[in-house]
Amino acid sequence: MFLLVLTGPRMLLTSLENLIQSPFVVFVNDLLGLAGARRTEELSGPLEFETDLVTLVGDARAIISLEAMADGLVARGEVVAPVLFRCNRCLVRWQEDANAEVVLVFGEAVDDEIHPIGRDGAIDLEPFVRDELCLSLPLAPLCSDSCLGLCQTCGTDLNRRPCSGHPDANESPFAALRGFLGPEID
Ligand SMILES: [Zn+2]
Ligand SMILES: [Zn+2]
Repeated sequence: MFLLVLTGPRMLLTSLENLIQSPFVVFVNDLLGLAGARRTEELSGPLEFETDLVTLVGDARAIISLEAMADGLVARGEVVAPVLFRCNRCLVRWQEDANAEVVLVFGEAVDDEIHPIGRDGAIDLEPFVRDELCLSLPLAPLCSDSCLGLCQTCGTDLNRRPCSGHPDANESPFAALRGFLGPEID
């Protein structure tokens, strides 16, 4: 009796900690062992991801359907998040939703394909949702396939107007110096 009293609150505490840790943790106790039983979860929360050209700028939203199998469950669904992109050529920024699909198997016989279910019946979808979303993003986003980029010399955005031109760098009297003194000299 004493043990039961002790275990109860501790399990509850673990569960609450998981909930606080990630909005992408789901408890699946109600499905385990009931092959064919299914439920849909709507999850949303921040995911950390940022590179020079791609930043998640709002909560990711995932709709995941959970379906129990004899020895585990399948989580399947879609994640969507607002992303701020910067063009790899002209540096213009724009915001657009990115989305990705996830199909994951959770179970007891854990291997590369089967992910673990916590002792409290929790599965943590966050790393998978984040990875799939990141994999869906371009490494070098372009505002348009035909983006003309910036003039390498003066920085003019060539999508807006043409650069008026520069003396050929190789004919410039400083060209020979560049080789010795590095790119600081202009
Ligand atoms: Zn561009
Ligand atoms: Zn120029």
